[in-house]
Order: sequence, then structure tokens, then C-alpha cells
Amino acid sequence: MPSLSHIKHLIIDMDGVLYLGDQPAPRLQEFFAFLRERSLRFTLATNNSTRTPQDYAAKLERMGVKISPSEVLVSGQATARFLAREYPRGTRAHVFGMPALKQAMTEEGFVLADEDVQLVVASMDREVTFEKLKRATLLIRSGARFIATNLDPTNPTEEGLLPGTGAMIAALETASETKPQAIGKPEPTMYQLAMEQMGASPETTAAIGDRADTDILGGKRAGITTICVLSGSSDRAEAEAFEADMIFDDIAHLLETWQHILIKESTP
Ligand SMILES: [Mg+2]
Repeated sequence: MPSLSHIKHLIIDMDGVLYLGDQPAPRLQEFFAFLRERSLRFTLATNNSTRTPQDYAAKLERMGVKISPSEVLVSGQATARFLAREYPRGTRAHVFGMPALKQAMTEEGFVLADEDVQLVVASMDREVTFEKLKRATLLIRSGARFIATNLDPTNPTEEGLLPGTGAMIAALETASETKPQAIGKPEPTMYQLAMEQMGASPETTAAIGDRADTDILGGKRAGITTICVLSGSSDRAEAEAFEADMIFDDIAHLLETWQHILIKESTP
């Protein structure tokens, strides 16, 4: 039975866990103070590839939490890092996506191009056009390897569920008649990269997330402890259906439970 007392490393999803849109989760600052105080290392991992780690650090700072961009892993970075192990620097890649993904790919040594490429790396593009769909489709059809940062079908917003990366990928997949390889959650790759970055082992690492079908499933596949919070996408029935190891209402509830365990352990 997994317990909180053996956890030394955390891989934490952001939206629906640390905040909902611009609304910070209850006891957010205390939660991070607790992690720092107990020397619990963490990586904030998100499938959203439209923003950079610097953007997320700035967002949390506005909520009174100081973290380093190096403690953030976005799916675009994870994708670029994963590919950099298989391809030499200077490999030509076409990016269908936002500037944050382009930046991640160039940082890992890829040369961005629109022809003669070995890779098509696709993600959310808020300025999608027929020309962009056409170009990526023709490149995949002519043999470029098709990679997707993630396959989330929708993005929850104040307006409702908007088209997500998966919706863009579906258009390319249909037109190219090729299935992409995806890197983001629920694939275990992001969790594995986050663990490497922290020098963590699966036995002492937990994933915290609000989406059972990505965060919890991905954690299971990576062989780590899974903690589902009910402050975002999934309800208790979904968390149980995906067999999350632990379920809490929100991070405040998780924090209280964790503190309680430590007090019990330190009193003989
Ligand atoms: Mg989330």
C-alpha cells in the first residue's frame, strides 16, 4: 500500500491542481513552503506546449510562489529532449505549433525547416491555416516521422471545452493517413524525463494530477505512485476507475494529511 511518508520526489500537474485558470488552489503557498521545508524535490509537468517554463514560473510568482523555470517540464520540451537522444544536432525538423515549441526544438539543436525534414513535430497551433496543414501533411506523406507533443482532445477554459492539440493532430493524421507517436501524458516519457531531471527513482516518486486518463494513467505506466486531486477535471468515480493510489479533494487536503502523518511519525 503506497503511503506519503516514502515519497521524496513529486511530478505535479499544474492546471486543475495548483490553479484553475487564474484562481490559485487553496493553501498553494503553504503547499510549496512545505515541499521546500521537507526538501521534497518536484517537477511541474504539463501537456500544454503553448507556453515556456519561464511563462509558468511567472504565473506562479503572481500567485506568490517562487519556483525556477528548471523545475518545469512542458510537453514541447519533453518532446525535443526525447528526440535529441535519437537525432544528431542539426537535424532538420518541421514544427507545426506555437513559438514555445519552436524554441524548445531549437534549444535541443534542431534546425527548423519547411522542406527536406526528417521530423514533423506537431502540437497546438492557435493560428492554424490550410497552408500549414497542407505543408505538414505533405512532409509526413513524403516520409518525415510524425511526432505529437500530446493528444489532449480539448482544453478546458472559461468559455467551455476548446479544441486541444489532439484536434489539430487528428486533422494531420486523417490527411496524412499516418498515426503519430505522442510524447506527453498518458505516455510515460514525460514522467521518465522528469525523474531523470531530478535524479529520482520510481519507488520514491509520486505523480499528482487532476486528470485520471492522462496524469494518473501516465503515472501508472511509469510505475510511480499516483495521487489524484478532485479540484480539476476528474471526479472520484474516474479517479477510482483509473485506480489512483490516493485521492484528495485538493492540494490543501493533501497537505493536511501529509502534515498529520509526519506529526504522528515524530511522536513516539
Ligand atoms: Mg490538469
